Amino acid sequence: MSKPKIATTALTSCFGCHMSILDIDDLLLKLIELVDFDKSPIADIKDFTGPVDVGIIEGGISNDENLEVARDFRKHCKVLVSLGECAIQGNIPAMRNTVPLKECLEVAYLSGPTVENPSGRIPDDPDIPMLMNKVYPVHELVKVDYFIPGCPPPAETIWEILSSLLLGKEIDLSYTMLKKD
Ligand code: SF4
Repeated sequence: MSKPKIATTALTSCFGCHMSILDIDDLLLKLIELVDFDKSPIADIKDFTGPVDVGIIEGGISNDENLEVARDFRKHCKVLVSLGECAIQGNIPAMRNTVPLKECLEVAYLSGPTVENPSGRIPDDPDIPMLMNKVYPVHELVKVDYFIPGCPPPAETIWEILSSLLLGKEIDLSYTMLKKD
């Protein structure tokens, strides 16, 4: 019998939520027994090979490439999970949402105290993903089925939710898995 498939990606984020997935330690071996990885930096698989049971997105959506990846995940994954605060509410990258994009770019590339840019140009190569006017939580632009909070979410919470979804069990989180100090 074929195993369920899982896919993961990191959008605008620090990769810390993926580190938390790896932090499930020896349960990672159990996870590998339970599932096959499809597109994921964990397995270094860059493209979907077919439909996937559970897709996990870390990070918010801040540019056109992020949006394309999020839509591709929605298209390929039966269940889509937002992992961590960047995916759920934008988090630290969304601090730029309080400043107009033009001003952000000017400070980053022209007038910031550590900027050395004799060309006086803001990079505009068409190969660079186009920044959006703000950083969006994933669920504002594509439908999300589950949310795993935390920055990063604790490894035991990720394991409990993932294993329940994959085994078709009811998700049963204890208070200690949900509370944040
Ligand atoms: S939620 Fe926290 S740990 Fe996860 S990607 Fe964002 S900043 Fe990093």
